[in-house]
Amino acid sequence: MRGAPTILHLDMDAFYASAEQAAKPSLRGKPVVVGGIGPRGVVATASYEARVFGVHSAMATAQARRLCPNAAYLTPRFSLYRQVSDAVMGLLGELSPLVEPLSLDEAFVDLEAGGVEPSTEAARAVGERLRRDIRTATGLTGSVGLAGSKMLAKIASEQAKPDGLVVIEPGTELEVLGPMPARAIPGVGPATAETLRRAGILTVADTAEAGEDELVRLLGRAHGAGLYALATGRDDRPVVAERDAKSVSVEDTFEEDLTDRLRVQLELARLADRCVRRLREAGRSGRTVVIKVRRYDFSTLTRSETLRGPTDDPTVVREAAARLLDGVDTTAGVRLLGVGVSGLADYTQEDLFAQAASEATQAAEAAGPKESEEPAEGTDTAPRPRRWLPGLDVRHAEHGTGWVQGSGVGRVTVRFEQPWSPPGRVRTFAVDDPALEPGEPLPLVRPPAGPGRERSGEAQPGEPGEPGPAPEPAPGADPVPSPEGSPSPDPVDPGRRRP
Ligand SMILES: [Mg+2]
Repeated sequence: MRGAPTILHLDMDAFYASAEQAAKPSLRGKPVVVGGIGPRGVVATASYEARVFGVHSAMATAQARRLCPNAAYLTPRFSLYRQVSDAVMGLLGELSPLVEPLSLDEAFVDLEAGGVEPSTEAARAVGERLRRDIRTATGLTGSVGLAGSKMLAKIASEQAKPDGLVVIEPGTELEVLGPMPARAIPGVGPATAETLRRAGILTVADTAEAGEDELVRLLGRAHGAGLYALATGRDDRPVVAERDAKSVSVEDTFEEDLTDRLRVQLELARLADRCVRRLREAGRSGRTVVIKVRRYDFSTLTRSETLRGPTDDPTVVREAAARLLDGVDTTAGVRLLGVGVSGLADYTQEDLFAQAASEATQAAEAAGPKESEEPAEGTDTAPRPRRWLPGLDVRHAEHGTGWVQGSGVGRVTVRFEQPWSPPGRVRTFAVDDPALEPGEPLPLVRPPAGPGRERSGEAQPGEPGEPGPAPEPAPGADPVPSPEGSPSPDPVDPGRRRP
């Protein structure tokens, strides 16, 4: 725990949904849900407008549709989110060599390691500048938490949402933490929270008051002790810039060699739990379980087992570790034990990628009732038509760039607009219209128009036939021809526009 709030936690606000709203002017201020759009899809991110209806991430998309039928349901565009994420992480990397990304849109930064003076004023100034820089570079907002530990910094950014900055001054941790639900403590999932609740422990203050012995009795040695430390504000976990590492591992050296086989097994199980906790804190999962055993003579051996799929389940890791230990002779004494999980995947993203891919292939077979599904007609005989999933980029030879609003019964509806245009118009085409082809995500912030680039900055590909350099349109002018009427009257968030 530091004396100055120099651990920064950044979390982009409703990241995927905000990126889609920035990309699609007609969706700004409207409920947007990004995730799997098929029958078994899961919500990845809901915009704040959709959250009002109770939609949240990890909810079944089918349930979200019931709660908020008027939201735009969009397929994730990971290539875009990656680009934005790279820009954000690049800005964080300018602040400090110690950046620990937790996902595409979330990271811890150790400001002191970056030479920031250990004071509240200095940390706050860096945080505010970061928020401005992120907005300029990406057009999106992020929230910043500053505190003396990772746990508090994350809680602070949560309190700052959306589009804010909160500092938890060192010395006030317990005041801030005390009234929060026990779930606020990292590592307290639904099961632990339920165990605590049954013991009458509801808040962080209750958890601290219960005392270490009681928590150990309820939750076991490792978990109980760890929880007690966090509940009392003790969190010395460092910011580690090793997120690209492909494994998480923990190990313990024993003061006296362990000779009792049962004790070795228990310690290994404890390490497995600790390893899984670190895995979960990082929002990750892995496929390969590794154990490390150093014997009394310092000979060290490792054994590993690869599971069928990635896991972050403590039971699975514990059992795998126990199986691996079965093959190791420990009778002469064990000096060090370790458990690791490798082959890491960010599980939420992993699941979504798999989901998106399987939907793209399955949807053709499922002649679903939703407007987003493949048309029923022609699927048996015709060559498989192209998939026009809602939200994806398209390009039309005549009308330029846009995105799929929906498709069904042989038709696809496209809205022609760009991140920097006003809300655009909708047109409908046959799904096999030769003038229509899949497009690439456009940058959310308009690329600066360099010398000789004014023209290409304005004209969208597929708007041919306008000879000569076009006059620079006034800010707010619609670069897309709208012959059928004026664009929809939705106001464009001026903060998002970077003309
Ligand atoms: Mg976020």
